[in-house]
Amino acid sequence: MRANGIGYSTPPARLDPAALRADFPILVREINGHPLAYLDNAASAQKPRCVIEALTRFYSHGYSSIHRGVHTLSEEATAAYESARDAVTAFINAPDRRGVIFTRNATEALNLVAAAWGRANVGPGDRILVTEMEHHSNLLPWRRLAQEVGAELDYIPITDDGRLDLDGLVRRLTGPVKLVALTHVSNVLGVVNPIPEIAALVRERAAAARIVVDGAQSVPHLPVDVQALDCDFLAFSGHKMCGPTGIGVLYGLPELLKEAPPFLVGGGMIGRVERAEATWADLPARFEAGTPAIAEAVGLGAAIAYLGEIGMAAIWAHEQELVAYALEQLRGLPGVRVIGPTEPRDRAGVVAFTVAAIHPHDLAFILDQEGIAIRAGFHCAQPLHEGLGLGPTARASFYLYNTLTEVDRLVAGIERAQALFG
Ligand code: PMP
Repeated sequence: MRANGIGYSTPPARLDPAALRADFPILVREINGHPLAYLDNAASAQKPRCVIEALTRFYSHGYSSIHRGVHTLSEEATAAYESARDAVTAFINAPDRRGVIFTRNATEALNLVAAAWGRANVGPGDRILVTEMEHHSNLLPWRRLAQEVGAELDYIPITDDGRLDLDGLVRRLTGPVKLVALTHVSNVLGVVNPIPEIAALVRERAAAARIVVDGAQSVPHLPVDVQALDCDFLAFSGHKMCGPTGIGVLYGLPELLKEAPPFLVGGGMIGRVERAEATWADLPARFEAGTPAIAEAVGLGAAIAYLGEIGMAAIWAHEQELVAYALEQLRGLPGVRVIGPTEPRDRAGVVAFTVAAIHPHDLAFILDQEGIAIRAGFHCAQPLHEGLGLGPTARASFYLYNTLTEVDRLVAGIERAQALFG
């Protein structure tokens, strides 16, 4: 296994993106008279027919409220919802399904850890470490927690070539470090952080610290095994992995979740409620207050089945091929600066870049005229951009259905934009 925790016993089978494209109805669309090249997957991914049909089927034939009903439909819907939890448990190799909590998205999952586990376990003078490359969703919950409880928030720096500075991490693993929160894959730098190596450093030097991994950009794209990562919490979103919006996951070690007070209180998460007191349900219901996103969970289960059938190792290998090609092509363009490590190895399929004298919004607009969807802005990582001395950037991000031809179209589109801007 490599340091970033991605290892295969056998090389993955190659996937055929041209064949897979037929699974995604939206990909036949033309945008502004051109075939859609959807290169905004880090923001959200498209949905295969099997996921769309799973939602339709569930709403048409299987929908009901869950858990409390004694009628047949409710029992069926409960089984469908809970089998989605089993699918997630297996997908990330979680040791215990009770530690798999459905949330709205990764952002809510991270807020849950901060508000529930964090407020109960982090106190005045404690230290919380985050990295300089975090998405706002894995930064602001910790900054608020630090402010609320009087803890200190410290930033692990990044190296000049856009990797996490592991010496900088080691230097910060002093004093009462209670929490290290970091992303597995940066949504700007594209870098895959070596979580097992980082976890080993944290366990060795700050045994009391808990490790929170933001898996929003890794779980959809590469094989993720929470036991191999050795993290305490992992957060991710369904919509970035071919699933519906409105469903995300927090995985946490049950012994940690059990000791945390509930995040939201209300129906569905109680043991017994009296006028003045209440007890809480066991995991996972304890953290799923109110009627959950039932159909969305079922849709996520279908997405996991789809990705599992293709194989995460094959998806990762395909994206590595795309990113290696994209880096090579972009580096060949004068005036283009790629953000993050220049070596494709250990980079996921996210490439942020700038083009001299062209604002990323103008570039995105010009590319859109040719049917190419990219993202422009700060990608919810403003401190990272500021730290790198950057304004907004353009970002192309790939998934299983993208092709080398689409990379060529991106590059040709950038060249045309450069010609337009003189
Ligand atoms: N973390 C990272 C690294 C992300 O890229 C994103 C999505 N842009 C999030 C967290 C938040 O995901 P969501 O908006 O689905 O909560």
